Amino acid sequence: MQGLVFDIAEASIHDGPGLRITVFLKGCPLRCKWCHSPEGQSPAPELLTFPGGQRLAGEVWSSRKLAEYLLDKKELLDGVTFSGGEPLSQADFLLEVLDLTKSALPSIIDTSCHGDYQKLKTLAEKAECLHVGLKVLDNEKARHWTGQGSALILENIRRLDKECATPYCFRLPLIPNVTDSEENLTAVANLAKELKNLTSVDFLPYNPVTGGKYAACGRAYEPGFDENAPTLLDLAAFRKLCPVEARVLE
Ligand code: SF4
Repeated sequence: MQGLVFDIAEASIHDGPGLRITVFLKGCPLRCKWCHSPEGQSPAPELLTFPGGQRLAGEVWSSRKLAEYLLDKKELLDGVTFSGGEPLSQADFLLEVLDLTKSALPSIIDTSCHGDYQKLKTLAEKAECLHVGLKVLDNEKARHWTGQGSALILENIRRLDKECATPYCFRLPLIPNVTDSEENLTAVANLAKELKNLTSVDFLPYNPVTGGKYAACGRAYEPGFDENAPTLLDLAAFRKLCPVEARVLE
């Protein structure tokens, strides 16, 4: 089976423990206003135009070729992370890659959990752990900020926690007065209290260079929030509410 990959990061140290390769699968059903991979959203190849030239985002790989590429490097790696875009949007392709690599390479799947539940569960059962990219929990606010309501995501997380033993962490980008509002963080902590396989809540600082890639995609970056505002996160206060480890990642 063939899939569409828009980037491969060799020697990644931010996408899980140890030295990893991160494979970015193209296509995502969400449209987060702060998305730092706008070239990963469309499920089709796109030509990016930079001042110094052009680059195609979206290369076709067969599952076998990608598995061989990863297995070739297995002696040097602690694992592979599948990110996006949204890996669930290419679930059948990813499943084949996992079946070919999982005995040799531990895998992390970086997902928003927005997608078909059975496919999410099948992938999760083959992964070492999941990074769940949690954003805005209120359904209508999520629709405004990410283009989709949060109901399906929350339903999938709760169901997966009951039916699959694979551990997972939340990874929440700190978007000023959006994801880091008191209301949203309280909802995250309350959700964490319901879940048995959640290991940590990891906050990711907003990256101020995010807007740079939008011009290359022929789009304007219109985040709709104050990019320069300090985060509202009070980590000490959040830790009192949250039953699992909470930390801010570099
Ligand atoms: S889920 Fe990730 S890839 Fe998809 S739009 Fe949001 S930030 Fe971008």
